[in-house]
Amino acid sequence: MPPFALLASLALLFAAPQGAPPVRTAKITILSTMLADRGIGEWGFAALVEADGKRLLFDTGSEPDTVLRNAQTLGMDLAEVTDVVLSHSHGDHTGGLATLRKALAPKAPRALSRVHVGKGFFIPRIRGGKPYTPLAAEKASLEAAGIQFIGHAGPAELLPGVWFTGPVPRIHPERNYPRDILIQSANGPVTDIVAEDSSLVLDTPDGLVVLTGCGHAGVINTLEAAQKVVRPAKVNTVVGGLHLFSADDATLDWTSAQLRRFGVRELVGAHCTGIESLYRLRAGAGLDRKTAVVGAVGASWELGKGIDPGTIAR
Ligand SMILES: [Zn+2]
Ligand SMILES: [Zn+2]
Repeated sequence: MPPFALLASLALLFAAPQGAPPVRTAKITILSTMLADRGIGEWGFAALVEADGKRLLFDTGSEPDTVLRNAQTLGMDLAEVTDVVLSHSHGDHTGGLATLRKALAPKAPRALSRVHVGKGFFIPRIRGGKPYTPLAAEKASLEAAGIQFIGHAGPAELLPGVWFTGPVPRIHPERNYPRDILIQSANGPVTDIVAEDSSLVLDTPDGLVVLTGCGHAGVINTLEAAQKVVRPAKVNTVVGGLHLFSADDATLDWTSAQLRRFGVRELVGAHCTGIESLYRLRAGAGLDRKTAVVGAVGASWELGKGIDPGTIAR
């Protein structure tokens, strides 16, 4: 066999089958949330996403040094991570960015240098009568520190099979956002619906895996967007904050039924999901204590292995 023919058949052998989902290995590890076995718990969210040997950081926690310190505690080096996704503009998801960049850039100049955000991320907000612009105020200094913000009005494939949804259309009236943050409209201040709220979707052989930040667009709206953006497969796994901590029973019942409809078999409800709400979703969606857990710092989900909840959330 001539060498080129051998190479061609080897390439065929190792290529993914035609039409197969691109993500073959994947892991999500939580780096900021309320509950923690080791490291620091806080009202915030961050997670490291690994897909086929490539990694990106999803959100950056609330306090400036939480994610940096938790990553050190868990033995995870973020220096090789060049891309960050910020699910939305709130301070409990953006608070660690400046500290992380400052700590990592001296030894890895490209570390966390590309930051993906949804359209509307930087619009001015008002909270308690004062400007509320967690990252907008720091934007110029972050850019001076080597960070490039990349705004997305729609979906974008950030790694093979790893999709940023872009702003999630609000098909169902989920309204899972705080009511005390306002934006200026032509008719005066109105509640900010967090229009930029975006999530991450991994396209795997087990179905779609959806990673949310605070879930302000509504988790079910987000699952609708995931299928529309990536493909109409079942959503096997949901990880992240669902902002359902104060949801009433009717909302939790409806949400559970919708999770069932999407085929969700694994749920890691972290951050603003709420503890009681997670238990209600577990029961309503037909899941159990292995397949629906409260997310803790260091907890992980891995394709083919499922959820490792750590110790306290077992
Ligand atoms: Zn938020
Ligand atoms: Zn949040």
